[in-house]
Amino acid sequence: MVCGRPLARGERFLCCYCEADLPQTGYWLREMQPMAERYNAGIQRMLTTTAPQSGAGLLPEIFQYAAALFFYQDAAEYKRIPQALKYEGRRHLGRFFGRRLGEKLSGSPLFADVDLILPVPLHPWRHFRRGYNQAAVLARAVAGAYRDKSGLPCGAGCPVVREDLLRRSRATRTQTQLSSEEKRKNVAGAFRIDRRACSRLPFTPRHILVVDDVFTSGATLCAIYATLRTVFPPAVRISVATLAFVKEA
Ligand SMILES: [Zn+2]
Repeated sequence: MVCGRPLARGERFLCCYCEADLPQTGYWLREMQPMAERYNAGIQRMLTTTAPQSGAGLLPEIFQYAAALFFYQDAAEYKRIPQALKYEGRRHLGRFFGRRLGEKLSGSPLFADVDLILPVPLHPWRHFRRGYNQAAVLARAVAGAYRDKSGLPCGAGCPVVREDLLRRSRATRTQTQLSSEEKRKNVAGAFRIDRRACSRLPFTPRHILVVDDVFTSGATLCAIYATLRTVFPPAVRISVATLAFVKEA
């Protein structure tokens, strides 16, 4: 996937050299790091612009966790992994690396108590054209890792995945060419919660994990955060996990 060398027996997607050099973030073990800070800053910015003037930005929010498996733009071509997953139909990549992400998260004290996993939804039209949602592929693989670690069935000590709870209420423009301010405007109000799916949850979640492929500005995940907060009280932690993290957004 990265250097283009033929794989040896036992190697999958990465040769042993690229595997050894995979620029892992280690963020699943650290509460304060650039990704979590960008996510929480985005949340604060949103609160101060939408909350009433009095006490703006001082709402009793807990610090939300954020982690990615590897850095997006480190020297070698590791960005090929999310690109191939998203644009080339290579779902098995999502299962493989999503599983790795899930192993890190389920083994971390910060993320061990996640009980509900939500993939970032695609607009139905885009979903139809692509045939799958890459975030959902990752979310299922992450949940699989939790399940195998705990040995427990879903919902009984092991997180459940819900793909119908979050919906895109409108299609958004592709974000790659937009400034961070434009990105925020582009995704604000782009999501809604399916109340029926929400009421069918067999339990009240305490720690939600929203899964996506790449974390850049965090605008999408902050918009989702705001949407989820309309239903879940501040005591419910809303963390995010992605395959890759872009250091310079
Ligand atoms: Zn290689």
